Amino acid sequence: MTKEALVLSNDNSISEFSIDDIGDDHMFTGLETPMKADAFVMSDIEKKEKISDLFGQIMDVIGLDLTDDSLKDTPKRVAKMYMEEIFSGLNPNNKPKISLFENKYQYNQMLVEKDITFYSNCEHHFVPFTGKAHIAYVSSGKVIGLSKLNRIVQYYAKRPQVQERLTNQIAIDLKAILNTEDIAVIIDAKHLCVSSRGVKDDSSTTVTSYYSGIFKESNKIAELQNYINQ
Ligand SMILES: [Zn+2]
Repeated sequence: MTKEALVLSNDNSISEFSIDDIGDDHMFTGLETPMKADAFVMSDIEKKEKISDLFGQIMDVIGLDLTDDSLKDTPKRVAKMYMEEIFSGLNPNNKPKISLFENKYQYNQMLVEKDITFYSNCEHHFVPFTGKAHIAYVSSGKVIGLSKLNRIVQYYAKRPQVQERLTNQIAIDLKAILNTEDIAVIIDAKHLCVSSRGVKDDSSTTVTSYYSGIFKESNKIAELQNYINQ
């Protein structure tokens, strides 16, 4: 409990916590996913081979018989799943290509895309957290295809994550893509590391939000929440 770290809270305030507290309490250390400088030196094929080998070693250590027909291909399956599915959002090459359209209808009210289902994984325990993301924005002249909002959520969810960072990464990327400050992102998620282990609370969910631009006004937040609750 000697080292300290700066922790960015949901309201963007920064406070100090002991390093030991961070993982246990599901706090996080910054907006960017902490990546090594040489994260993409190894090819995806090499990474899959290495993960398969190392995951097999974990299975072996916990005592499983890797010659059993049911288990023998599990290391390979896990490696493929990590690289191609649940952690594919670590690689910027997998970022969805986004095209914008002119706001032909001059629609200048908030647009809300709600109940975007996502699956992510807690970076502290490597077990899933899953829930719904709700996104709202006001066009500054361009609009985005609705399915692209969904794809941006999926891209950032497919990383070892912390819910607060997921929320902020989606919001900040959308601000840049849509060239507007008027963005809101709300995420309501259930964490398996809370429900299936640890305190074993099966009913609690965690809500995080990012409001900027007009979404800092309480009447706009109320209007948005009204749409989400409909
Ligand atoms: Zn966790």
